[in-house]
Amino acid sequence: DRAELGLLRDAEAVTLDGVVITLEANIELPEEAEIAVREGADGIGLFRSEFLFMGRSHLPTEDEQYAAYAHVVKTMNGRPVTIRTLDIGADKTLVGDVTVAANPALGLRAIRYCLAHPEIFGAQLRALLRAAHHGRVRVLIPMISHMHEVHAVRQALAAAERELDVRGLPYGRVELGAMVEIPAIAIAIEPFARELDFLSIGTNDLIQYTLAIDRGDSEVSDLYDPMHPAVLRLISGTINAGERFGKPVSICGEMGGDAQVTRMLLGLGLKCFSMHPQQLLDVKREIRQAHSNALRVKVASALNRAERIDLQTLI
Ligand code: PEP
Ligand code: MG
Repeated sequence: DRAELGLLRDAEAVTLDGVVITLEANIELPEEAEIAVREGADGIGLFRSEFLFMGRSHLPTEDEQYAAYAHVVKTMNGRPVTIRTLDIGADKTLVGDVTVAANPALGLRAIRYCLAHPEIFGAQLRALLRAAHHGRVRVLIPMISHMHEVHAVRQALAAAERELDVRGLPYGRVELGAMVEIPAIAIAIEPFARELDFLSIGTNDLIQYTLAIDRGDSEVSDLYDPMHPAVLRLISGTINAGERFGKPVSICGEMGGDAQVTRMLLGLGLKCFSMHPQQLLDVKREIRQAHSNALRVKVASALNRAERIDLQTLI
């Protein structure tokens, strides 16, 4: 009940065998950072910046974006803030954007759109760097599928820093990470785990692209299966690569906030979960009642046999 959840707010997210788990919040608007703090989040794991851009006739300026990002960074008061660069296209569209892609989910969306619109991307990167003057900012790139996209982002970041130098504006260093949401990068994850500072698994799109199921199409929603062994293998491989290269890996898709699969994700070795702030306490309760090592043994053996994991056996 709510009283018990209230006590949980101040409790540490630690398993029965002492594994400390990081619990972060997903937000869509800067004001939601206050809710994240109130619910005891260790940081922001996903700020979907596209919501600053949607439903309005003019793009937000660099200064407007800086104000929004700096607000979140200051509110989080030293905790890490992960801000995803513009993930536009497919299910998220800009007002007045009349281009109709042949297949929006596979088209010029997210980082592809940003690299094709360097003025828009540059303004966002400068705003992010300026916000990093006030705290710890991690820049998260959506829909990465190629290493050359990572290199292009690093170049764009360097150009943004040079421009701020010229303008004499203060800025801070940022960490750079990628969404793991296209199966190709999960399958060939090593170079990305080596090159980037952190990884965040976007299970919403990862499931969509792995199973060829439109995430918004109700006619096939019964086939949208987070527990499909192929999906779990991609998640597992990404977590393992992060462990090998010493890079943090989180899940920021819906699975991360689903308390019914928390034990399974602990069994895959996940140490960082990001979710809607209202889900934090339910997930924390699961973690505090779980034995991480026992779960790792059970989940690994099911995964090796490419078997469907029965969640009942993990309780
Ligand atoms: C995801 O794809 O899992 C994700 C977190 O991003 P979005 O739902 O915004 O596409
Ligand atoms: Mg996504």
